[in-house]
Amino acid sequence: MGAHYDRMIAIRREVSEIHAAVSLMEWDQETYMPRKGGDARSRQLATLSGIAHARFTSDEMGDAIHGAATERLNETERVNLREIAWSFDRARRVPTPLVKAFAETGSKAVEVWREARPANDFATFAPWIARLVDLRKEYAEAVGYAHEPYDALLEDYEPGASTEDIARTFEQLRGPLVDLVQRIQESWIVPRTDFLSRTFPIDDQRRFAVMAAERMGFDAEAGRLDVSPHPFCTTMSVHDVRLTTRYSETMPAQSLFGVIHEAGHGLYEQGFDPEHEGTPAGTAVSLGIHESQSRLWENLIGRSRAFWRFFFPQFVQTFPSQMQDVSEEEFYAAINRVAPSLIRVEADEVTYNLHILLRFEIERDLFKGTLSVNDLPAVWNARMRAYLGLEPPCDRDGVLQDIHWAHGSFGYFPTYTLGNLYAAQFFDAVTAAMPGLLDQIARGELLPLREWLREHIHRLGMTFRAHDLVQHVTGQALSSSSFIAYLQRKFGELYRLNFP
Ligand code: ZN
Repeated sequence: MGAHYDRMIAIRREVSEIHAAVSLMEWDQETYMPRKGGDARSRQLATLSGIAHARFTSDEMGDAIHGAATERLNETERVNLREIAWSFDRARRVPTPLVKAFAETGSKAVEVWREARPANDFATFAPWIARLVDLRKEYAEAVGYAHEPYDALLEDYEPGASTEDIARTFEQLRGPLVDLVQRIQESWIVPRTDFLSRTFPIDDQRRFAVMAAERMGFDAEAGRLDVSPHPFCTTMSVHDVRLTTRYSETMPAQSLFGVIHEAGHGLYEQGFDPEHEGTPAGTAVSLGIHESQSRLWENLIGRSRAFWRFFFPQFVQTFPSQMQDVSEEEFYAAINRVAPSLIRVEADEVTYNLHILLRFEIERDLFKGTLSVNDLPAVWNARMRAYLGLEPPCDRDGVLQDIHWAHGSFGYFPTYTLGNLYAAQFFDAVTAAMPGLLDQIARGELLPLREWLREHIHRLGMTFRAHDLVQHVTGQALSSSSFIAYLQRKFGELYRLNFP
């Protein structure tokens, strides 16, 4: 440690504190802010973000980073220097007019999209996608990339990731997934799901979800759960992590698995070492790793037999009339039902990834220049047919369904499937390390799992980048095989399928 390093960390912490204020104001905007507060809030957020950006990219920060590189640093300090220098260089390479043009175009494009989607009007939205793609290409040229422009976009969410690697991994996933979906479709087993649309009072749903999150080890004195139209998790500090969900009386599974998912994100945020708060050593590795934590809890745990062995009797106790004619097995089959559908956010654990593969392939082709924006609907529909056997009757339920492209967030989608792949690999590692894990879960003892994740993943912050973390935790590189094996095991048993 030295004077320059200390200076660098002090500036990084200031920036992180401004970001925490931004996060709190964004959280408020989504939960409690009165509707008329929107205009002022946008200005406040833009001002604060501008201050944070200027501070982070200041010459003073540049000098501190250069100086720190000449000082004797321990391992954690070297991690902080590596990551701060990396972000600093990237941020400084982007010309300010480009940052502004992108922000302005993105916010207008979102407005256009909000009208174009319900109106089923791709033609009006298309020029905006084209403009955003051009701006992101300029951005990629400015920050630089290893092989193709898409690498630069991907790295905003998954530092160190390469398009080529991800394409290879996803390629291995596609065949087995398409095959699994098809075989499930042909299976004679169709789980009953009627009871999942009965009326479940919202207060009871909330009580049950909070109980599950606390069993997982989410610290309610260092976080809270509120309601917002789109569920999310945001963080002001290790000791202040906010989760949101939405409730519908007739869709209890949506809020329950939503809370488990967000609490999985929340455990990651509560699991950082408080000593490293505001520095990379106390920060998430990537969106993909973040998503691995939420999906591990939501799917591998929350939709498992072991989990419901403990929670089903409590669910029945909470909802006696709604569940009076439902067995534990029927419930388990219902929450794991696989059925191809048009909308990504409503997709099940198996088909979900095909929605992502399709988006990744399309994005990559857009940035390679081998696909033009006007061909998007046709390509989208053709791949939906090939992968899921469905064709959207209109663009509203097809190419127009997500907000990501309107924001210009190209490169974001793959992190969802990366999260699933990482989660399956981590789960293999933890079950190998803790042979009694499933029995513990069946007894409602979820804390040993949280402790393992905390020790092996959360406490490390950004010590490793995603691919190195996977290698470090599991002894293996990123691959689709754990995830495919998991799906075939679970859904093969549910739908009575055999796999070689
Ligand atoms: Zn998530």
